[in-house]
Amino acid sequence: MDECLTVRTFVCLYCQEDGLDELDLRDHCNEHHASDSKHVVCAVCVQTPNGDPQYYSCNFIGHLNLRHCYYLDDITNLNQTDEMNIQCAILASYRDNY
Ligand SMILES: [Zn+2]
Ligand SMILES: [Zn+2]
Repeated sequence: MDECLTVRTFVCLYCQEDGLDELDLRDHCNEHHASDSKHVVCAVCVQTPNGDPQYYSCNFIGHLNLRHCYYLDDITNLNQTDEMNIQCAILASYRDNY
């Protein structure tokens, strides 16, 4: 029931730091791994139904900045029915009130 409000977290592919959400991961990689040229698979895309699990980037941070500069859930919501969006909004507003 809370699925639409769940924030997914990812592991940094460079240093294995855990618990980063999409934007945290992007900031983290920009800050710590900007000069790291290791080829990695995008952790975010791997876990995304319409992402590319084979995506193998030689410019992962550029990819993060380009593709993950927003929460994927914001995009996902665009594909939901209006009814689902309303339900999410209702749930969210209940949350805010308590
Ligand atoms: Zn890291
Ligand atoms: Zn990606």
